[in-house]
Amino acid sequence: HADVAMYAAKERGRNNFQFFTPELNKLADERLDLATAMRFGLEQNEFSVVYQPKVDRHRRIVGVEALARWHSASCGSVGPDRFIPMAEETGLIGEITERVLRQAFHAATQWSPVQGRALTLAVNLSAKLFLADDLVPRVAGWLADSGLPPQRVELEITESVFLDDSERAISVLQAFKALGFRVAMDDFGTGYSSLSYLRHLPLDTVKIDRSLITDMEFDEDVAMIAQAMVGLCRNLRKTVVAEGVENPAQFALLCAHGCEEFQGYLFAKPLTAEALRSLLARHQGSVPARQLEAMPG
Ligand code: C2E
Ligand code: MG
Ligand code: MG
Ligand code: MG
Repeated sequence: HADVAMYAAKERGRNNFQFFTPELNKLADERLDLATAMRFGLEQNEFSVVYQPKVDRHRRIVGVEALARWHSASCGSVGPDRFIPMAEETGLIGEITERVLRQAFHAATQWSPVQGRALTLAVNLSAKLFLADDLVPRVAGWLADSGLPPQRVELEITESVFLDDSERAISVLQAFKALGFRVAMDDFGTGYSSLSYLRHLPLDTVKIDRSLITDMEFDEDVAMIAQAMVGLCRNLRKTVVAEGVENPAQFALLCAHGCEEFQGYLFAKPLTAEALRSLLARHQGSVPARQLEAMPG
């Protein structure tokens, strides 16, 4: 894992000089407010979960990704790109993850199968949490409480999981795999993405990052990289998912390259548990192209 180690060294070596200015003080105050609001929000049950479908090339729903949402009484709606890093810093990530996973595991027990196949549930695991001592037994315990079988759960991790102690991260992955969980590499194609190390990791799925999907239409080099990634992942017998598919041109191109699964606004936005259940009931588990506008976000 030489490439991994090199990247880690580069990250640590990056100098970050900061001088205190009124603006920075104000920023620091805002962060403090947000952290306080987050503690309050956990007490008040302000966190919820939405579910974004994943479809196959026939637009049949094959799985769903759980995404955390926070509507704060004092700060309004705060996106996960903002509150997840904050939760990692304040140590509240464990508690938020427990809420999200318990809620999602329970919701998934209620979903009807699509054409005889049970839907998989994907959940995101923060890199900061991944090497915590008791993560595996805790997740397994939450799952057991829900009654959902581990084979229906896919844990999404990012490459940053391997930055600090890649040997240990791999052993955590193997522990999850031994319990029957599936594992996906999320946001692949950002960070230090190296195609060669993928084969050493016990992964079932690779999700190609939205930034590549967005740019492939306009940039031939990116299109070539995306195509190569799909081909390589398929040769390694990993399921490939394209994330952030927003238009039919991207969908057609990805299908032509052999991509098997897709996620994005073209098919469905993240939905409340209730909206997802009614989508599953309405179209026998397929996402029709026409009715997208009417879908709640
Ligand atoms: P992610 O896991 O890569 O999730 C995909 C993100 O892309 C979601 O944003 C989703 O709403 C958005 N997305 C999906 N399709 C499209 C599309 O076609 N176009 C565009 N523009 N966006 C699309 P969201 O929900 O804001 O989540 C952002 C990130 O926050 C997630 O990226 C994930 O890394 C993190 N996150 C969300 N929920 C959780 C959680 O419960 N735990 C942890 N650790 N991280 C979470
Ligand atoms: Mg994800
Ligand atoms: Mg992703
Ligand atoms: Mg992403």
